[in-house]
Formats: sequence, structure tokens, C-alpha cells
Amino acid sequence: MTTQVISKEPTNSPPVSKYSKDRKVGEGTYAVVYLGNQIATKRKIAIKEIKTGIFKDGLDMSAIREVKYLQELKHANVIELIDVFSGTNNLNLVLEFLPCDLEVLIKDTSVVFKSSDIKSWLLMTLRGVHHCHRNFILHRDLKPNNLLLAPDGELKIADFGLARSLGNANEDLSSNVVTRWYRSPELLFGAKHYSVAVDMWSVGIIFAELMLRTPYLPGKDDVDQLDVTFRALGTPTELIWPNVSSLPLYNALRVYPPPSRQELRNRFSAATEKALDLLISMTQLDPSRRCDLTQALLHDFFVESPRPTEPADLPKKKEKVKEEDEESDTKRRKF
Ligand code: ADP
Repeated sequence: MTTQVISKEPTNSPPVSKYSKDRKVGEGTYAVVYLGNQIATKRKIAIKEIKTGIFKDGLDMSAIREVKYLQELKHANVIELIDVFSGTNNLNLVLEFLPCDLEVLIKDTSVVFKSSDIKSWLLMTLRGVHHCHRNFILHRDLKPNNLLLAPDGELKIADFGLARSLGNANEDLSSNVVTRWYRSPELLFGAKHYSVAVDMWSVGIIFAELMLRTPYLPGKDDVDQLDVTFRALGTPTELIWPNVSSLPLYNALRVYPPPSRQELRNRFSAATEKALDLLISMTQLDPSRRCDLTQALLHDFFVESPRPTEPADLPKKKEKVKEEDEESDTKRRKF
């Protein structure tokens, strides 16, 4: 059992009796991540150090969100928040240490993916996101780089800095969420009211990326993202997405026809018919037609052969990443 104690420390170092803080392993937009140890258990941990005091209200909203939501979410496929402690100018999240992520693996051409591996990663992602949605939390930044991999092969959803409670349906939400390539059409059109379908879209695009081994919809900027998305999936019209033209950023768009089943089959040549069905259902342009997490988890794709690979048997990164490389890798992966 772990406790979530917020212990006041006068310095920037972790409570000496509880954790050791070793080398830096990553850097995000608002935090530096260190490898450490939980002294009592010798368990490897990650300490995410978030600078505070640089924001006018003292604490970054992302940090507050991350702590709040991770405390609420306990699931095999969501990263575990072990502890939180504060220093003079920072807040430290003690997280389970997860040495790899799905993006690193997708890019590692020496690693071969079997269709049962892809099914397993997709299933673990869906289970984690389903748990978030059942607890009325939207992640809003799902991408391969935020799907971390434990040494035992379990996939864990991380980085809840953009997450949000699914509260009042009338409340305006920001459409400037989700890393561009994984952003749903309603967000690209500036929708202020949206729901679980934005996460479902991101998972669909990740599923496509796992099959293609390259990003599916890599827009260069926000305008290009619309073009890339609709060139691949067809331009939405009032016929297939009623009221789409009333969304704030909806504009006269170049009209692309929807892809035929054969086109999709050619694009995803190794996908079974059921895999294609699921992908099509997850990437419906109209969010009200997109499947939800329960429907995705119950899809026939997960029943047909082959069975999802057991997490322990999933491929791992071949060579051990050198310490210095890990850091520069992390920086390269951000955009
Ligand atoms: P930000 O929210 O600022 O983007 P992240 O949570 O993405 O920060 O963390 C930055 C980087 O640190 C990640 O890309 C990853 O390489 C590394 N990292 C984050 N959490 C862990 C963890 N639990 N175990 C190992 N490395 C981690």
C-alpha cells in the first residue's frame, strides 16, 4: 500500500528518508523528470519536478490537474502516482518509473510488430481511457509519447496535464487541446462543447499509426492538419455531419471524397476486415457517430484470432538506451 502524503520540505530535495533522486531522464513542457528510488522498497520511481511560483497564481493549472486526476484514477493502465511532496519552488510528483513509451517503439525499425501485439497495446490503451471516462475524466492529450511502457509490458496512460472533468455540459471548453496530429475534427473546427469522442479519435489515430509505423495524419500546422485529415478521410458535409458548418472555425474547405473501403484496405494492407471496421468506427468525422470506449472494447476485433499478446511477451526496445540518448530522445519527441 502506498500513501499519498504531501510532506513540506524546506529544500528542493526529496524527503531524504523516503526517496533518492538520481539522474534526469526527461523534460516536458513544464517539468523535469528524474529517476529515483523509494528507499524502503528499493523500487525505481520517477520524480516529476514541476516549477511553481513562476505563474501569477502560484501554481500551474497543469500541475494541479495532474495531481487531482491521478489521485482519482487507480488502474493497471494508468500511471500510478505514489506520492506528492513540495519543495521551496517546486511540486514533486513521485510516479512509477516507466522506461519506454509507444512512440519510441513505433520508431524503432528493428522491432517487428505482430498484429497480436498491436491488438494488445490498443486493448490496454482502451482499458485505461475507458477507466478515465468512467470516472468522468477526459485525457485530452492521447498520443504514443504519452503511452508509457512498464518493464512487464503493461501500457500506462500518462501526462494528465491537459485532463478535464466531464462536468457541466453547458460550460465552454478550450478547443486548443490535444497534440495536433491526434486532434479530432470538432477540435480543429474550434468546438467549445465536446466530449469523450475527442479521446476516442486520438486512440483511433494511434491505432492507425501502430499499423502504419508512421504518423497517420501529420499536419504541418493547424490549417494543414484540416487538409491532411480530410484528404485521408473525406471533407465533412452537412449530410454526413449535421450542423458542422455552424462550428466556429468551419470554413470553405477543399472538398475531398470519403475514402472507399478498398482505398482503406490498400492503406492498411495488413488489417483484417474487423480491424478496419473498428478503425472506421473510431475515426468517424461526426463525433456523435464515433464509437465510445465501451463499444470499442466490445468490438469483434478483440474476439477474432489472433488473441492479444500477453503484456510480458510484447516486443521491447532492442538495445538499452544510453543515458545521454534518453534525454535527447525525449526532447526530439516533443513538438
Ligand atoms: P510534460 O507534462 O511537461 O510534457 P511529461 O510527463 O511528458 O512532461 O514528461 C516528460 C518526459 O519525461 C517524458 O517524455 C518521458 O520521457 C519522461 N517521463 C515522464 N514520466 C516518466 C515516468 N513515470 N518514468 C520514466 N520517464 C518518464
